[in-house]
Order: sequence, then C-alpha cells, then structure tokens
Amino acid sequence: MSKSNLGIYIHVPFCRGKCPYCDFYSLTDESLKGKYVSAVCREIELWGKKIDKTVDTIYFGGGTPSLLSADNIIQILNTVIDNFKISNPEITMEINPADTEFLDFEKLRHFGLNRVSLGAQSMNNSQLKILGRRHNAEDIKKSVNFLKSSGINNISLDIILGVPEQKNEDIEEFVNFCLSNGIPHISAYMLKIEEGTPYYFNKENWKFCSDDELADFYIYACEALKKCGYSHYEISNFAKGGFESKHNLKYWDLDDYLGIGPSAHSLVGGKRFYYEKNLKKFIDNARVEHEKTNLEKEFIMLALRTKWGVTNTKFKQKMGYDLPKTYFEKAKKFEKHGLIECSENRIKINESSFLVSNVIISEII
Ligand code: SF4
Repeated sequence: MSKSNLGIYIHVPFCRGKCPYCDFYSLTDESLKGKYVSAVCREIELWGKKIDKTVDTIYFGGGTPSLLSADNIIQILNTVIDNFKISNPEITMEINPADTEFLDFEKLRHFGLNRVSLGAQSMNNSQLKILGRRHNAEDIKKSVNFLKSSGINNISLDIILGVPEQKNEDIEEFVNFCLSNGIPHISAYMLKIEEGTPYYFNKENWKFCSDDELADFYIYACEALKKCGYSHYEISNFAKGGFESKHNLKYWDLDDYLGIGPSAHSLVGGKRFYYEKNLKKFIDNARVEHEKTNLEKEFIMLALRTKWGVTNTKFKQKMGYDLPKTYFEKAKKFEKHGLIECSENRIKINESSFLVSNVIISEII
C-alpha cells in the first residue's frame, strides 16, 4: 500500500428533526452534546498515539455539525492539531442554512475552517417543505452572503434531484443561483427511497418520480452545470477548476481516512473499521469493529466513478502491482458501444454514461 496523508472525518450525530428521506445516523436529543465532544477529543488523542500520519483534510459531517458551537468545533480542531502532524489542511464543515447566522464563522475561519458544504437541497420552498427541511430559500441566500462576508468563499451546495413536484426549471434556478453567487462546488444527489425512512414507509402518499424521470433530471442537471463551466469530476459532484473536494477525493482514491463518531467509517493502512451507530456506547466505551475489504476491486470501483477513471499508474502506486489485464478485457466490451474509453494505461467511463455506471462497474469488477 502507498503512504498517503490522512483525512479525518468527524461524524456529528445530532439533528433538530429527521428529514423523511435520510438514513444517516443522528438523534434529535441534543442533551449529550458536551459528552460527545469530550468523547471525540478522547478518541482523537488515542488515535494520535497509534497513527503516525500527516493530516491534510478534516471534515465535519453528520448529522448536523452546525448544531455544535464554534467553541466545540475549535476544541476538536485543537485536539487534532495537538495529536497529529498537520499540513495546510482543507477543513470543511457541513452547515444547515437555518443555522448559519448562529455560528461565528470569522472565529472558525481564524481557527482554520476554509470550506463549507451547505445543505441547500433546493431553492424552491414547497420542495424544501416536502423534504422536511427546516430552512427556506431565503436562508440559503442569507447563508451564502454571510459566509462570504466572513471570508469563506470555498462553498459547496447540495441539490437533491427527483423531489416530488420538481421541474427542470427548479434545477435551472438552482444552477443559476450557484453561478451568479460564485459557488465553486455542487453535489447533486438523486433522491433514493432508503429502507427504514419515513418516505419508505409512506411511499404511497408521495408522488415520487419514476427511474426514467429521475434519469432525465440527472441528465438535465449535468448539462446545465456543464454549460455553466462546472466540471463533472465524480458521478454526483461538480466543481470549478481547483475546487474539487480534497477530502472526498481521498474516499475515491482509497487514501487513508479516520472517521470518528458513532457510525463513522475509516480506512487506514488498508484496513477498514467503523464505530457502531450508538452515541451512548461511543461516549462510554467506544470500540471499533473491523470489516472485510477487497481493496483491488474497491479501488477500481471508486476510481471508475470519477472523470479520471482508473489508471495503471495510480493502481500500481496504491496496490504495488499492475492493474490486471482482465479488467481491460472486460472494459473493451463497453468501449465498442461508446460507454467507456480505454487506453494502455487507463479505463474511464464516459461522462455521458455515468448514469449507467453501476451496471458497467459491476460487469468490470
Ligand atoms: S438530511 Fe441532514 S439534517 Fe436531515 S436528518 Fe439527515 S443528517 Fe439530519
């Protein structure tokens, strides 16, 4: 395995309310916030003694990290700094637009926060209601202005595609908002009805779009974003040059990352492990569970989700041996149909085939 720097992911397991489509681990009872922050710092100290790596990305995700105070975030950041070597890190925090004005971003920026991922999801108030979000379009506009006036310009906005009642015009309005506000990064997720969520249990009460309609929204969004100069660098991610998420690139490159918090997953030194989805256990006696991996297949699968595809050069750097010929042979089948590009060194799914990438990838690996 190659030696990479380390990314740290902090899972913040609190939300004011549960959105009906979401299956991320979070609780609406915030009473254990203080104990949670202490447990995160304790775990960072423990891992700092075991992992000798330089941290170059830190990502606060959730849940809703913006329910922590600026002082909580700074306490966690200081603990990372005290326990790991640090090199010019990208530090991202997911923010709910309803919380922006309550956080001291100037202070956070001073302590290193330099990127925000804003859970906008839509600029249409009726769709935001359907999604059970606690913010409206005005909150998104205010948040963007507020972040910029605090000196944070590296902003990513999420949009959900396939929300009941959504139209192409809604997507266009969202993209235009991003363009006119200089937003350099957009994540566009197709609405998936996850088992166990309120949407899943009440499917018949909602007019969800068909798979074909969802595909049309995705294609529409990809084209609209491309026209506005956003590069489609991963199936769900779009960026202006140089604004790709360094932290997320670690996931797709199988670089090392340490996830801390209940439900957080890690990949360090070729080993995958995770904390259980249980806040109390995390606070009282956090232990990680190990899981099996097939790094060769995972590397190929994740690399094929990106615009760069999988290259022999990177594969060899990571795995220590050449990308087996059999993957090239299988990929050739799709090349004939224009779905894939193959060269001696690279297999890459064409952007226009991203929508069917799951099928292509499962055939190749
Ligand atoms: S979508 Fe975000 S805010 Fe909504 S429940 Fe899930 S983690 Fe919480």
